[in-house]
Amino acid sequence: MRHLERLGDQMIISIPSDEDGLTGRECPNPDCLGYFKIKLGTGLKGENLPCHCPYCGHTASPDQFWTQDQIEYVRSVAFNQISRALQQDFREMDKQLRRASRGSFIQLRMEYKGHPHPIHYYQEKRLETKVTCDVCTLVYAIYGVFAYCPDCRTHNSIQILHKNLELAEKQVTLAGGEDGDFSAYLIADALGNAVSAFDGFGRELCAVHAASASNPGRAQNISFQNLARADQRVQKLFDISLSGSLDANEWEFVSRCFQKRHLFAHKMGVVDQAYINASEDAQAVVGRKVSITPDEVTTLIAHLRHLGAHLFAGLTG
Ligand SMILES: [Zn+2]
Ligand SMILES: [Zn+2]
Repeated sequence: MRHLERLGDQMIISIPSDEDGLTGRECPNPDCLGYFKIKLGTGLKGENLPCHCPYCGHTASPDQFWTQDQIEYVRSVAFNQISRALQQDFREMDKQLRRASRGSFIQLRMEYKGHPHPIHYYQEKRLETKVTCDVCTLVYAIYGVFAYCPDCRTHNSIQILHKNLELAEKQVTLAGGEDGDFSAYLIADALGNAVSAFDGFGRELCAVHAASASNPGRAQNISFQNLARADQRVQKLFDISLSGSLDANEWEFVSRCFQKRHLFAHKMGVVDQAYINASEDAQAVVGRKVSITPDEVTTLIAHLRHLGAHLFAGLTG
């Protein structure tokens, strides 16, 4: 049985990565079982580092994060090698038996029926967002947008906020090269995107830290589209003041930009009485279009970066 013996008592089987060099992972938490990918060799360096699920934050040793496909693959490769070795050994034994019994009354032979164990090939799944952690440089891919870094467990919400605000900023720049209606359209869209980016970020961050809120259930779903209301809620639930982190004029400006966004999203940008009451915008006239300039959106984006950092520091610090 020399072929079988040659396999030894240990086999090294490497797990293939996908075309981008990413390796699939699966959360071992039975309530999650979330699938994600990481690029081995990026991120934290060191021995026995734990792995964190990007979706539920579950922490465990990296060898508990193999996907079902990978486990099946490794098992099938092992069985394949064993069955091949057995086949070769049986062939040799058959030869020896035939040689030994050549010319004698009883002819001995040995036959190995069957094929080597088939290998369970698989393809890693396509995911939706690829992230490079700005803290530990791990490259990972996830479903959705928001996640914990599987290496350093930093939540990427602030990173995603910055990325989306950058895109909105590019849109403002782009609007400068266009004329009339299209330029106005791009600016209003950039305003909407900046507000959405902040809303998505704030909502996610508060939900992730809901456990530390005075009322965790309420913290699961805070809308940031109405800034004044969001400010009150965040103060009540987490004792963090968004309005207190800007001076009064800046806060008024940001709140008004959010109200303008509401008009663009729901009223085709036409001023109504509710806007006048809420914004105290002296230039606005009911029934006329509200004005928004590229500079306003750029200034808003700068304030949102500041507010985002303030909220993030308050919740994670
Ligand atoms: Zn998980
Ligand atoms: Zn990281």
